[in-house]
Amino acid sequence: MKVALLDLKAQYQTIREEIRACIDEICDSQMFILGPQVEQMEADIARYCQTGHAVGVSSGSDALIIALMAVGIGPGDRVITTPYTFFATAGAIARVGAVPVFVDIDPATYNLDPERLAACLDDMDAAARATVKAVIPVHLYGQCADMDPILDVCRRYGLVVVEDAAQAIGAEYKGRRAGSMGDFGCFSFFPSKNLGAFGDGGVVTTRSPEYDRQLRLLRMHGMAPKYYHQVIGGNFRLDALQAAIVKIKLAYLDDWTRARQHNAATYRRMFADAGLAERIQAPAEVHTRHIYNQFIIRVAEGRDALRDYLGQKEIGCDIYYPVPLHRQACFAYLDYRPGDFPESERAAEQTLALPIYPELPADQLAYVVACIQEFVRKQ
Ligand SMILES: *Cc1c(COP(=O)(O)O)cnc(C)c1O
Repeated sequence: MKVALLDLKAQYQTIREEIRACIDEICDSQMFILGPQVEQMEADIARYCQTGHAVGVSSGSDALIIALMAVGIGPGDRVITTPYTFFATAGAIARVGAVPVFVDIDPATYNLDPERLAACLDDMDAAARATVKAVIPVHLYGQCADMDPILDVCRRYGLVVVEDAAQAIGAEYKGRRAGSMGDFGCFSFFPSKNLGAFGDGGVVTTRSPEYDRQLRLLRMHGMAPKYYHQVIGGNFRLDALQAAIVKIKLAYLDDWTRARQHNAATYRRMFADAGLAERIQAPAEVHTRHIYNQFIIRVAEGRDALRDYLGQKEIGCDIYYPVPLHRQACFAYLDYRPGDFPESERAAEQTLALPIYPELPADQLAYVVACIQEFVRKQ
């Protein structure tokens, strides 16, 4: 039986007519950049994320870059984040000319560890600490980082908080939505994300009207009024087609999230029934509404063998992420060493993503578990 890690075609079939009608309308209007479609999507996202403001941008990566630009972070500054995330998180820091500083994760959630964050800042001398301007916690896999202690530390040291919520739209931490807790929330509409467009796109949320204005200015080359440039921004614009598609899909997002949560609960129950709970560690749910952008298992030994085995059985699975960022060639100049972030390194060696998408047929999910059981029995 063939099982896809993600089947976007299955989802498209359920909303095809609605999307095509809307695309037709935009084609007839020949209005493609920003405009009313983008404004409507922004209003819906701001409501959904409980932030008051949302600014559509060209991608999740650009969302991070423009948020850092909005607070003037640049050369000479440092920004703290986790080394166990998609590259764009740290890439954005380097792209604005600042230096990424890594802090290890909590092994239970794979998210930035608040105690290690506090220790990192407490241990710096005053001069070094003065160069740290922001922290980017990542809500990895669809579960929020432990934000209360992170926000406490950031308040103590006067740091801006940029939430990388690219994998976490609709996730909650103690009843608060991802993207509503820090100064900015950065989201991605990359097609494979829980709320995906038909191309690249993203959005920045903020509760501050001031930041909202600055983001809008930067998104259009710092231009206000036309051809008068107040600051050097860029082209971070979102197009109407992507915004309209996101707006349509947003109405279905909570149903899709419930289906993902149902699949996660089914995996958990089937692992227990199959006697796999010891060997296969399912994701922990801490303080949160986990939206399961990915379903990540931890296999203490034999992760690569399991991946190969599932591959032979035509089951889609993947490793997010095989190389922590402090071990990436492009960050060699940061001078980190193997062993500097043991939890991130262990996670990179032990985790595996299984199919969890909302439309995943129940018999396919059961087949995934049966194949894992077979693998464990043969070892
Ligand atoms: C996908 C992702 C991004 C980047 O989003 P793009 O839209 O692909 O640019 C940033 N951070 C994380 C954690 C992501 O998963």
